[in-house]
Amino acid sequence: MKIICVGRNYKEHAKELKNAVPTEPVIFLKPDSAILNNNQPFFIPDFSKNLHYEVEIVFKICKVGKTISARFAHRYYDKIAIGIDFTARDIQENCRKKGLPWEISKAFDSSAAISKFIAKSEFENINNITFSLLKNEKQVQLGDTSDMIFSIDNVIAYVSNYFTLKTGDLIYTGTPAGVGPVCKGDNLKAFIGEKKMMDFYIQ
Ligand code: MG
Repeated sequence: MKIICVGRNYKEHAKELKNAVPTEPVIFLKPDSAILNNNQPFFIPDFSKNLHYEVEIVFKICKVGKTISARFAHRYYDKIAIGIDFTARDIQENCRKKGLPWEISKAFDSSAAISKFIAKSEFENINNITFSLLKNEKQVQLGDTSDMIFSIDNVIAYVSNYFTLKTGDLIYTGTPAGVGPVCKGDNLKAFIGEKKMMDFYIQ
């Protein structure tokens, strides 16, 4: 399986990192070795001095498809979770400055924390999902999928032009404003609506 991530998909977040609001989706990948599940602790890697959380809604692909049109995209995912796109911000800044790919800042081991999944059918409207992140019991990020610049269906239409989607692939849909650093001992809790989906520690 592969992990497809959307960058800068919330206006306020693009602005906080001083990026232009994109006119087409910004896409990057993480390998399957990036998965961190079951509320296992996240170990800050030695190579970063500025490791950030980015809470994101995640969709799970349920069938193979390529060049999918947005109007049929909803047939290609059936489960929703919440995840954290852990980012070595210092390394990412260096890569950006040099105009280099930023993979090593984004796709390292355990950089894709993921909660358990909820069936899509349990949501009234997937384009209106509220989600949040608490760090040490204080809310640091609050988002709603209605604020995404590119909806999940538009993201699927876009990425399936380039990558065949396969069953089990995950799509991280971008983070709202409020990203920030984690330190050893921090506790992170992620919620979809009122439902606690993740609760784990930074080591
Ligand atoms: Mg992200």
